[in-house]
Amino acid sequence: MNFDYDLFVIGGGSGGVRAARVAAQEGAKVALAEEDRYGGTCVIRGCVPKKLMVFASEYSGMVEDAQAYGWTVHAGGFDWDVFRGKLYAELDRLENVYRGILKNNGVETFDQRAKLADAHTVELADGTRKTAKHILLAMGGRPVMPGIPGDENGITSNDIFHLEKMPESILIVGGGYIASEFAGILNGLGVKVTQYYRGAQILRGFDDEARGLVSEEMCQKGIDLHLGTNVLEMRKEGDKVWVKATNGDERVFDHVMFATGRAPNTENMGLKEIGVEIGRKGEVVVDDYSQTAVPSVYAVGDVTDRVNLTPVAIREGMAFVETVFKGNPTKPDHELIPTAIFTQPEMGTVGLSEEDAREQEPIEVYATSFKPMQQSFAGRSERVLMKLVVSQKTRKVLGCHIVAPGAGEMIQLAGIAVKMGATKEDFDRTVAVHPTMSEEIVTMKTPTRTA
Ligand code: NDP
Repeated sequence: MNFDYDLFVIGGGSGGVRAARVAAQEGAKVALAEEDRYGGTCVIRGCVPKKLMVFASEYSGMVEDAQAYGWTVHAGGFDWDVFRGKLYAELDRLENVYRGILKNNGVETFDQRAKLADAHTVELADGTRKTAKHILLAMGGRPVMPGIPGDENGITSNDIFHLEKMPESILIVGGGYIASEFAGILNGLGVKVTQYYRGAQILRGFDDEARGLVSEEMCQKGIDLHLGTNVLEMRKEGDKVWVKATNGDERVFDHVMFATGRAPNTENMGLKEIGVEIGRKGEVVVDDYSQTAVPSVYAVGDVTDRVNLTPVAIREGMAFVETVFKGNPTKPDHELIPTAIFTQPEMGTVGLSEEDAREQEPIEVYATSFKPMQQSFAGRSERVLMKLVVSQKTRKVLGCHIVAPGAGEMIQLAGIAVKMGATKEDFDRTVAVHPTMSEEIVTMKTPTRTA
C-alpha cells in the first residue's frame, strides 16, 4: 500500500521534533502536526522559561552578597515587564529554531490539531486526511486541577509566564517539582509565597535527608510552607482569592497556583477507537520499544507517563527511530536517570534514595552537610548536602544526592560515574578539586551510618 508519509508525528515538543528530524535524516518522508507552539512544554511553558525565571530570582540575594564582599552596590526593584519582554523574545527565537530544524530537514508541518482516524490515517482539524506507514504520538501532557470546590479561580504553571504583573502574594498548592520550584522563584522575585502540601514532606519519592534540607532552606528563605495542609474551598473575592485550608486557616491571596500534577494529552484523539490501549491515568500504554497495541502506532514522552523529563522523551524518540527506521531494535534506557530539581537550593540526584536502597540490600551511607565557603563568607547560614548511598556487597554507588547551588551541574557529571557502575573506592581514588563544594563527594572516608 502507498502511504502519503513514512512517518506522521503528532506533537511538536522535545520527543516529537527529535524523532521527526532523525527519521527524516534517515531518508524517511516525514510530517508533523502541532496545534500550539513548536517546542512543546519544555521550551514554551516549562524547563526553559522556568530556568530563566530561576536565574532572575537568584539575583535578589546577590546585591547583599556583593556588599558583604566589599562592593558598593545598591538593590533596585525587579521589573517584571522588562524581564517578560526579554523572555517572550527568547521563546520566539527558540520556537523559530524548532521550526527551522523541521524545515531544514524536509519535515512537512501542519499547524493544527490532528487525531487518528485509523491505524495508518491521521485526520487534521480542517478535515484533511493523511496516511502514514507509522504514526508517532508525542502530544505531551498538561497541568490538572485537583477538583477542589472553587479551583477554577486558580492558575497553573502555564499562566505564570503570562501574568500582567507580579502578585504581592501567592498560594502554591502541591509539593512536587513544579510547586517547589515556583515557590523558590516567586519568593526570590519578592512575592510573599505560601505553599500548602498535603503530605508530611515535599518532593515525595526523593531521598529523605535531601528533601528535608531543601524544605528547611526554603523556609529559611522566607517561604511559608504548611505541610499536611490542603485547600478545602476557595472563591473569588474582588480581584483576590479567598481560601479556606484544611487546617482551618482562612486567608486571601492575589493568586492561587495549583501544581498538583499533570495528565497525558490523550483525550479526543481517536485512540481507543482504533485500539490503542489507554492506562488508568490517561496515558498511552506502550511496550519496551514504545510501540502501542496498534503495531503501526508508537508513542514517546509525557503522553506515555513513563519518566516525564525532556531528555528522556528525546531518548525515547531516538530509540524509536533506531528501531523503526534503522532496523536496530532499541529500548530506551530508563535506569539511573540523573535529574535536578531547581528549587532554591537546588537538588541533583541519581539512583536510589537511602530509603529505597536499604529496602533492597545492606548499605553504607556517606553524607556531609556544611556551610559552603562563598555563602558563608557573605554571612549566610545556608547549608549544602553531599551524600552517597553505597552497596555493602558490591561497593557500587547506588545513589548520589546533592543539595547545593549548582547541584544540577554537579549531578550530570556524577551521573556518568554512577551509570558506569563506579564503586565507593573509585570515588575515593579520584583526587579532590580544591576548594570546591563537590570535592566532598570524593573525600568522605567513614560511613555516617549503615543499614
Ligand atoms: P508531581 O506529580 O511531581 O507533583 C504533584 C504534587 O501535587 C504532589 O506533591 C502531589 O502530592 C500533589 N497533589 C496531587 N493531587 C493533589 C490534590 N488533589 N490536592 C493536593 N495536592 C495534590 O507533578 P508536578 O506537576 O510538580 O510535575 C510533573 C512532572 O513534570 C514531574 O513529575 C517531573 O517529571 C516533571 N518536571 C520536571 C522538572 C525538572 O526536571 N526540574 C521540573 C518540573 C516538572 P502527593 O505527593 O501527596 O501525591
